[in-house]
Amino acid sequence: MAMIESDDLLGRLRSRLPFLWLNPSLAKAFPEDGPSKEMIADAETRMRRHAPALARAFPELSGSSGVVESPLMAVPELQALAGDVHLNDAWFIKRDDLLPVAGSIKARGGFHEVLSVAERLWSAHANPNASRWIDGIFSSEARDVFSRHTVAVGSTGNLGLSIGVIAAVLGFDAVVHMSRDAKDWKKRRLIERGVRVVEHAGDYASAVEAGRQQAEADPRCHFVDDERSQLLFLGYAAGASWLAGQLAEAGRSVDREHPLFVHVPCGVGGAPGGVAYALKLIFGEHVHCFFAEPVASPCMLVQLAASGEGAVSVYDIGLDNRTEADGLAVGQASLLASRLMKPLLSGVFTVDDSTLYHDLLAVHDRLGIELEPSAVAALRGPRWLMESEKGSRYLAAHVGSYTSATHVMWATGGSLVPPAEHARFRARSLQSR
Ligand SMILES: *Cc1c(COP(=O)(O)O)cnc(C)c1O
Repeated sequence: MAMIESDDLLGRLRSRLPFLWLNPSLAKAFPEDGPSKEMIADAETRMRRHAPALARAFPELSGSSGVVESPLMAVPELQALAGDVHLNDAWFIKRDDLLPVAGSIKARGGFHEVLSVAERLWSAHANPNASRWIDGIFSSEARDVFSRHTVAVGSTGNLGLSIGVIAAVLGFDAVVHMSRDAKDWKKRRLIERGVRVVEHAGDYASAVEAGRQQAEADPRCHFVDDERSQLLFLGYAAGASWLAGQLAEAGRSVDREHPLFVHVPCGVGGAPGGVAYALKLIFGEHVHCFFAEPVASPCMLVQLAASGEGAVSVYDIGLDNRTEADGLAVGQASLLASRLMKPLLSGVFTVDDSTLYHDLLAVHDRLGIELEPSAVAALRGPRWLMESEKGSRYLAAHVGSYTSATHVMWATGGSLVPPAEHARFRARSLQSR
């Protein structure tokens, strides 16, 4: 079996101590047969095209005219706290916890995939000569068509929230396969919105597998495959140009003298992979992408570090994939994402649960924002670069000038989490001090 060849790395992973791993395969070349710029631009156009209809379908989206986007927030407080005095207002949090309707980064990929499927099905029914026939996907005639089709997904929670809610609004029979340990409030929210929730014993991967098998048996069922879906990937990628615009607006250039560091929590790898891939297309070698993974679930690190092309999971190296960061509790990375990340990703840093809870409390107390545990995983990124020996080595090798760098830490979810759950997170934070 393909495995981790370095004993040193294997020992480090098994010790469950957080560390920074630098990707030895980082190259300037792009992976072959990855999605093109045009495909990502198409995904952006698709989201824009349906914005007016989305604004009508979801009251939460009326304020943004149907644009599913999130703010970029400057966080000088966190920067000062970390002692990063060299950089001038250069730390930002990307607030995907505030993405409307779905409350997490999953809104990007999920909405894009379901809208794509709806367009495809509707194109077989609509008069293609009619101008703007595509707008008809929110019509009652289209609902009628979609009601005879199922959109299914396997999910620990956030992907289910995204796919389930948009599919149900369009009129699909929306089915979310969940592991039994998924949070009750997520199941309830889905059921309230007209989604069917099917529970499975076992972990996230087995819920996905069960969903996939049921879908394969049914030609009228579209299964959203978190481990393989290009449509999801493109939806995540479509957010990169918006971020580029936000950085420009904030006066942050990105070029040789002004490197950009982007830190994103990683589960199966689709969301951070899409974001990183598209940012690389925009900024090339001037953007440096790092993923954050739980010490018990570093599936992308393990897959990228493994020799050979075969799939390697965290279980294969003796880790248990048990973490409070439920959005990141994934044992096996998406091979679609890992293949594309191989030459593009700068590295991965791991995070333990007590650090997640510590940082969750810190952002609550200092910034007044409520994130879920998975969503704070990226916050340690800048410190790994500034304070570790490997970080210094990376900066020396890849970055001309660090003093005018920008850090973006992706906060991936939290606004839909009920207040009682946030209070429970904070109580846990105080305990683990
Ligand atoms: C899903 C998720 C991620 C990671 O996305 P993947 O595509 O699984 O890598 C990160 N944070 C939160 C809150 C998520 O729900």
